[in-house]
Amino acid sequence: YAAKQDRTQVEVWTPVLGSATAVDLGLQTQLRAAIGDGQLVLHYQPLVDARTRRVASLEALVRWAHPQRGLLPPGAFVPQAESSDIIHQLTERVLADAVTQAARWHRGGWPVPVAVNLAAPVLARDHIVTAIRDLLAESGLPPSALIVEITESAVMTRPEQSTDRLRAIRALGVRIAMDDFGTGYTSLALLSQLPLDELKLDRAFVMRVHQRQERAIVEAVARMAGQLGLTSVAEGVEDEQTAQTLVEMGVDLLQGYHFSKPLPADRLTAFIPALAGAHR
Ligand code: C2E
Ligand code: MG
Ligand code: MG
Ligand code: MG
Repeated sequence: YAAKQDRTQVEVWTPVLGSATAVDLGLQTQLRAAIGDGQLVLHYQPLVDARTRRVASLEALVRWAHPQRGLLPPGAFVPQAESSDIIHQLTERVLADAVTQAARWHRGGWPVPVAVNLAAPVLARDHIVTAIRDLLAESGLPPSALIVEITESAVMTRPEQSTDRLRAIRALGVRIAMDDFGTGYTSLALLSQLPLDELKLDRAFVMRVHQRQERAIVEAVARMAGQLGLTSVAEGVEDEQTAQTLVEMGVDLLQGYHFSKPLPADRLTAFIPALAGAHR
């Protein structure tokens, strides 16, 4: 509730102060310092195999351990980072931490793939390709254990450039997931051109899968993903009935509070008895 109220306040101020508000500028200055200070932390949320319920991969989700305001969700600062060059610094931090942690899990005997979210401005720069390549080389993490998640809007701003960039990332052996699928405007023509491995159906459809329209959409997307050779993922699975319905529809992977909320690495490791201490 606190976070929601905060966001509402920023929205109220925005029209009064213009686009680069005093509120945003203050936050951006703080965020820049916070990144250098190590105040960004990653939580990891499991994606489970729909049939076996075993953990198939993890999604890294950033939080800001703010010294005064507590643990802030990405919605409270990622949009502000995206509207400035801070997003590049933030993403490098997130990528480095996620790759380091994944490599640690691998060495500890748990070869779990980890996904990182890339925003549109990050995908717009060629630098991201060498950054990922260097991180993989330094950490020794197998490239196939890294997944990058991009949204439809990130691709749609410059489809040709994005497609080239994604091809270059995929050529490293990294996997690509289309996030929040169904909320943007990707044409089916573009979808078939994009170098993708996973299609993550947005929570908005998943939560209403018991209604006739959404059921038809989810079913069609799961079938299409299968026929395109893509892994289908349902985000936002909050109960067993939804999970069952999605299994029947042939969705491959499930993600949501029903299985686990995003957790810090050490708490996640505690789930895997053989890995006690592997996060160190
Ligand atoms: P996303 O990539 O679609 O991530 C999934 C979001 O859904 C996460 O919110 C997760 O906590 C939430 N979620 C998962 N399961 C459930 C569920 O069962 N019910 C509900 N109601 N929600 C669920 P979170 O962590 O607040 O992240 C929000 C968004 O912030 C992410 O959406 C992503 O777009 C962005 N984000 C997070 N970390 C990063 C990052 O490192 N870089 C960038 N560029 N964006 C990030
Ligand atoms: Mg994501
Ligand atoms: Mg998502
Ligand atoms: Mg989503």
